[in-house]
Amino acid sequence: MSSDLLVVIYDVSPFAWGAQSEKAQTDPNALSFTKMSEQLLVFINSFLLLNRENRVAVILTHPSKSLFAYPGPESKNESKRDSHVTVDAIISEHLKQLASIDVSDKKDTGPLLSGALSLGLCYINRLKSEISNLQARMLVLSASSDVSSQYVPVMNCIFSAQKQSVPVDSCVLANEDSLFLQQASHLTEGIYFKPPLDIGVLQYLLTIFLPDLVSRKYMVLPQNSNVDYRATCFCHRNVIEVGFVCPVCLSVFCRAQTQCSTCGTRYMVVMPVAARPKVAAVRRAPAKQTFASSSSSIPPQPDITIVE
Ligand SMILES: [Zn+2]
Ligand SMILES: [Zn+2]
Repeated sequence: MSSDLLVVIYDVSPFAWGAQSEKAQTDPNALSFTKMSEQLLVFINSFLLLNRENRVAVILTHPSKSLFAYPGPESKNESKRDSHVTVDAIISEHLKQLASIDVSDKKDTGPLLSGALSLGLCYINRLKSEISNLQARMLVLSASSDVSSQYVPVMNCIFSAQKQSVPVDSCVLANEDSLFLQQASHLTEGIYFKPPLDIGVLQYLLTIFLPDLVSRKYMVLPQNSNVDYRATCFCHRNVIEVGFVCPVCLSVFCRAQTQCSTCGTRYMVVMPVAARPKVAAVRRAPAKQTFASSSSSIPPQPDITIVE
């Protein structure tokens, strides 16, 4: 019997959930942090009760740190039957600890998603070496907007997950779509889903994210049809549609560079015709006359320029 491992990454950023709590004061159907945490615990317990071989890991991601909440070192000796009882208590305890951390100076940081993904991938890698037929996947529950400064580490984690064949599922609870998670789910063949309503998130979790990887083949699940493929430039962390790519390390820049700031490669930049010195035009003239007499049908070759 194959064993399933589900790594849940739960965004507990106080900035994102604070805005939701304000909304919940006027709208009774709005999703508050307490409601979401309760529904997530029901989902985790459902996953554990589905099969006695199922394993779960919970990582909490916060602007100050990413915390490996479950299983802790003390969970090793517990029996499988008791695991669904202790998971509630342990996660609730860690949530209380994180709530007491002062994050007033981390408004622009956002939750440390790359750190949480790295922790999850390391844990999966370790367990895969211990259990041969382990089927692992990750589920990211995100309530915050993307932070462009995290683009490079998040993309590195996505490529690692792709290499390890670990699907990254995403459930986005923020107001706008997440560019990072769209790309993560698309590249790892996971499911990206943004619930249309705040109420009934548990229903979406149970119907979309609970079935194992084998059962997914027989189900009609949300398709990643509108993936935003835009990249973030390495120089200013801006989201760009067209940019310059280093041919050596594939770093993306919004402006032409003479040297790659990531790998240090120096480029031979070919200047446009108008910017070339006059001596270059004089040297090219006889060459054009020679070819004109023998092969006049060949169109003139365009000058190689870097087009933005
Ligand atoms: Zn830039
Ligand atoms: Zn480079």
